[in-house]
Amino acid sequence: MPQNSKRSSVLGWPDWADPLATERLRECLRNNHIGHAYLLAGPKGVGKADLALAFAQSICCTTVMQGDASQACGECRACRNVDRGAHPDVETFDLESQSALIDKGSSRASLSIETVRSLRSSASLLPLESSRRILIIDDAETLLHPAQQALLKTLEEPPAMVTLLLLSDEPETLLETVRSRCQQIPVRPRPEVAISSFLMERGVEATLAREVAVLSRGCPAWARAAAVEGTMLKARRAEWDAATTWIDASRYNRLVTAFTMGERFGKKRSDVLAVVQTVVQILRARMIDAAAGAEEVAAPTGATGVKNSPLAISRSITASLQCLSDLEANVRPRLALETMVMQWPNLELQQA
Ligand SMILES: [Zn+2]
Repeated sequence: MPQNSKRSSVLGWPDWADPLATERLRECLRNNHIGHAYLLAGPKGVGKADLALAFAQSICCTTVMQGDASQACGECRACRNVDRGAHPDVETFDLESQSALIDKGSSRASLSIETVRSLRSSASLLPLESSRRILIIDDAETLLHPAQQALLKTLEEPPAMVTLLLLSDEPETLLETVRSRCQQIPVRPRPEVAISSFLMERGVEATLAREVAVLSRGCPAWARAAAVEGTMLKARRAEWDAATTWIDASRYNRLVTAFTMGERFGKKRSDVLAVVQTVVQILRARMIDAAAGAEEVAAPTGATGVKNSPLAISRSITASLQCLSDLEANVRPRLALETMVMQWPNLELQQA
């Protein structure tokens, strides 16, 4: 299987990922309490795939560090094969592999029941070189209900020498019965400053590192890729600009955008969530500047924001966070978005 393109090619535990999630996985390995199924939940680009492969590597490594079973050597053939996606006992099932192996090139937006069937037959095999087989299911949020039901059978009667790692940026889309059979490990975003400093340590120029960190929404794996991949950065800058335009629009235009986004939510849930997250981020940046009495508020792209009192911005942040949690709970998305923009400070009044 080709190496997953969502993952950067580095051996061992990613020192830039959520330390708590890393520690929980390593603890299982050290205590030799390796579960049958884990659910790694966190936003796209936060490092779930890197953690899953580091976990697999520690299980497959033929010369793990003495005294720490969670530390793969990073040099043996098994370690290198896991990293290259060529280890016989480690298999990743995601939209990319589905497109290559089952759909013969066509790109479906959800993991199909055929993919779960091929996972089930893979789970019935005995490990060839390691103590267990590690099956990674990335993009698990795209599993439709029939596919989840099929997966449930494996989760209910897990083969003895298999560990499943489900990776999802929207774990709430999984059936409760699926979630409850997995050990859930949240993989949390990292602070901006941690991301910019790890980028600089890896030779990224300081101004770019800071901009990428701001735009990363705390997702270090995304940041690593975006620092070298211009199109990713460009798309995120465009999102930032769109969110800025929305915040600074007239009341009427804000409502129009809220309406459009509400309509989009059914099809592109994560896109809409991303825009509202960006709104919160912009408002927080403005809050810091307003509190510091800054003359004007500069977005990372150099756009200039409109000045508001810290109190007004603080109310907007509260309203936007409420909207975000309503959207995450799928509570009437259009109403949630409209309610949010109604509570943003009225710029027309202020400018009058
Ligand atoms: Zn090794």
